[in-house]
Amino acid sequence: MSKYLPVANSTRSFWLSAEEDDIKGYRSSEELPKEMDTVIIGSGYSGTATAYYLLKGNPSNKSILMFEARNICNGATSRNGGHLKCDLYYGYEGFLRKYGEKDAASIHNFEYDHIRATKALVEEEKIDCNFVITRACDIHFDKSGMDKAISGYNSVSKNSYVNYMHDLQINFGDEAKTISKVEKSPVCLTYTTGHLWPYKLVISLLRICIARGLQVQANTPVLKTKRLNDGRYLVKTPRGDVITKKLIVATNGYTVSVEPGFENKIIPVKGVVSRITSADPSKRTPHLTNTYALRYSSEDYDYLINRGDGSVIVGGGKPVYGDNLDSFYNVVDDSTIIPKTKEFFTNYMKERYYTWKDFDEKLDCIWSGILGLTDDTLPYVGEMLKEKNKFIIAGFHGHGMPRVLLCAKALARVINGESTSLEVPKPFKLTEARMENTENETFASLKTPRKHKL
Ligand SMILES: Cc1cc2nc3c(=O)[nH]c(=O)nc-3n(C[C@H](O)[C@H](O)[C@H](O)COP(=O)(O)OP(=O)(O)OC[C@H]3O[C@@H](n4cnc5c(N)ncnc54)[C@H](O)[C@@H]3O)c2cc1C
Repeated sequence: MSKYLPVANSTRSFWLSAEEDDIKGYRSSEELPKEMDTVIIGSGYSGTATAYYLLKGNPSNKSILMFEARNICNGATSRNGGHLKCDLYYGYEGFLRKYGEKDAASIHNFEYDHIRATKALVEEEKIDCNFVITRACDIHFDKSGMDKAISGYNSVSKNSYVNYMHDLQINFGDEAKTISKVEKSPVCLTYTTGHLWPYKLVISLLRICIARGLQVQANTPVLKTKRLNDGRYLVKTPRGDVITKKLIVATNGYTVSVEPGFENKIIPVKGVVSRITSADPSKRTPHLTNTYALRYSSEDYDYLINRGDGSVIVGGGKPVYGDNLDSFYNVVDDSTIIPKTKEFFTNYMKERYYTWKDFDEKLDCIWSGILGLTDDTLPYVGEMLKEKNKFIIAGFHGHGMPRVLLCAKALARVINGESTSLEVPKPFKLTEARMENTENETFASLKTPRKHKL
């Protein structure tokens, strides 16, 4: 068995409090079918959204089977920060250097399109997932982060291909402090963002897919896949084998468990998220309407959403564990949290927001999850090189919510034959050049010693 498979006894996230008995261990049949048209590996946002668009584009396809190693949707999707947040400027100059003006803009525009696309989906399918549209507020505490933000903002505003400059605002001085509610914030940037209950979104989509004919086998890890002489694929599981014409790998941080060729390309990286509430349940929290990124330096930040129930979901904590690479890099174990993160998230709000200064908060829940980071920071989407009819949609970093949906839609349209071109930003596509690249910029950035102190 691959050491990259999801582990047992994972920590329990707040989002998983919505788990329902009829779906969590769902199996469409006791025995596995022998042959299928399409097999999807992974029941997270990527696998489920791909199934949704495959069935939407071709409702008569009743031969799609999804395998999930754990209970349904128990990977990154049900352990994340619930933040549907685009990056509209921060990574821009890096993308500009590597991909040029047009492709750099396409990455940011694509993320921005996800706000509209997610809203449309939630409304069309009447999905109850606490979807809220509000403004993101990015706070930059130190000079390196601040310089990068201002420079990114100035550069992106000169790019005529970007379609969201009307929405991106930079604030300084007192305005920055008042808008952000953070005293130590000399600059903040705001723009449209969303937040939601990711598990509820995906489970609702999955229920729709099942009603339309999707077959699902939970708690059935795929151990190996093999191309047969006739071009079909053998999918091996502990419960038996299935032969399929088309295979879709939607395994994100665990991709190496079935695709060893992605070692050092998609790397499992452990992250920690927490939920903060009022210590006294009868008292309302000092609710903040923005969502936040609190950047301690150019490389480390926390991400935070304020939910309608008054609670706060906040992830990050790198300042206390970033120098201990072995505790999180190339790690698939989400059965524990990372040392020192519990202390980091204790009294988190009162130490940062002046509106929470005199309020008693409680660390209600803390959990870990496995992100799929890639060597060049972008997801891998498309047909595998030299393996016809095998596709990948994986490696979404901490940016799945503003990238997965339209990648899944584009991939499904190609698989269904509705489109001949994969309509995702060019740098997301699986190419020989990307697979041959041996530079791992993610590792280079993570192994840099942390300079800042809290
Ligand atoms: C701690 C944390 C915080 C995050 N915060 C945010 C955030 O606030 N905003 C944001 O946009 N993104 C965030 N992300 C990233 C986001 O959650 C992911 O990008 C997104 O959920 C990826 O979806 P996915 O379906 O590709 O992966 P997953 O949800 O991980 O799904 C992959 C599935 O495949 C299954 N699987 C793997 N291997 C096998 C196998 N061999 N056989 C069968 N099944 C298998 C897994 O069990 C899993 O269920 C965060 C991630 C983490 C871990």
